[in-house]
Amino acid sequence: MHRDLPNDTKRAMHHTQIRSFRSRLLAWYRRNARTFPWRTNPTLYRTLVAEFMLQQTRADQALPYYRKFLKTLPTMRKLSEARPQTVLKLWEGLGYYRRANQLQRTARHLASQRPVMLKHLEGCPGVGAYTFAAIGSIVFGEPLPVVDGNVRRVMSRILALAVRPESTEGDKIIRTSLDRMISVRAPATWNQAIMELGARVCVPRNPKCGECPVRSWCKAFAQGKVSTYPIRSARTKGLHRNISAAVIRRKDGRVLIAQRLSTGLLPKLWEFPGGKQEKGESLRSCCKREIIEELDIDIEVGRRIAKIDHAYSHYSITLHVFECRYLQGTPKKIGCQNFRWIHVGALDAYPFPRANLPVIQMLTAT
Ligand code: SF4
Repeated sequence: MHRDLPNDTKRAMHHTQIRSFRSRLLAWYRRNARTFPWRTNPTLYRTLVAEFMLQQTRADQALPYYRKFLKTLPTMRKLSEARPQTVLKLWEGLGYYRRANQLQRTARHLASQRPVMLKHLEGCPGVGAYTFAAIGSIVFGEPLPVVDGNVRRVMSRILALAVRPESTEGDKIIRTSLDRMISVRAPATWNQAIMELGARVCVPRNPKCGECPVRSWCKAFAQGKVSTYPIRSARTKGLHRNISAAVIRRKDGRVLIAQRLSTGLLPKLWEFPGGKQEKGESLRSCCKREIIEELDIDIEVGRRIAKIDHAYSHYSITLHVFECRYLQGTPKKIGCQNFRWIHVGALDAYPFPRANLPVIQMLTAT
């Protein structure tokens, strides 16, 4: 099906329409842009950190992390020389922890270039098409359109795109359209403007079409079918897992924490050990079994002290945390990278996944 291709005159905008669209969008952005520290003085380093943080996180959520990160590691050199655990700790709570490691590896690569050019970002860890285009336009002034979730949504409504925007065909249509629409003189402003429109006006539910500066060019609006776009695939039921985790105490009051493996989800983060409940298994039995499998020690599982719901991108979990007593055995690194017996007061020094943070707060408050 090619009826939505932008070179189809039924759908594509003419040059004059594109010019008007562009100037209305840019004017709106100049009046309405939120001020973020990464938008003022967008050096390569500041933009790199911001773009890695913003890959999977909303701007207002990323803001405090960004400020702290820049305060602690203010230069590319400082980041490239920092201990990985320091970087991970600064990332704690942001999620998608692999990004922290990828950012540091990219910083190390860039710190060794003189001068740094856009081509040096090619193939760097964590630098996909989006980050490359964002940095290319913001730092190097290249007319490279960014395509993120906000842009896909806006464009699928503007074009009344009849296919899913993430599909190969949808992606091609959107990119081809944006190549024609982007402002060659102000590509950074253009990219930020269209993302801002998606974040604040053309929002997923109940878009504010009454306030939209590009309403006159929006095909979904003209057809009265705004809620039809973007086209979605049939809903699949989200995966949910129950996880049992153990706060294991020794007689001297220390608790046992384990470091996750460097491969798989949440690599190298520390956590209260535990794992997934199996079919037909009680949460307490799961807790005991996981500790044997992960560390080869024997524990007594006591009362449940926390039940935490948490959503990741493709599944959700309920973390059931049990207070446990250490009985016997020397811990071994079987299903973990490392382990430590530490005082509760030292928990703050280790990077933990976000789902563990309420447990730490609870333990340190008592
Ligand atoms: Fe989005 Fe409505 Fe604007 Fe169209 S008119 S781009 S649907 S906010």
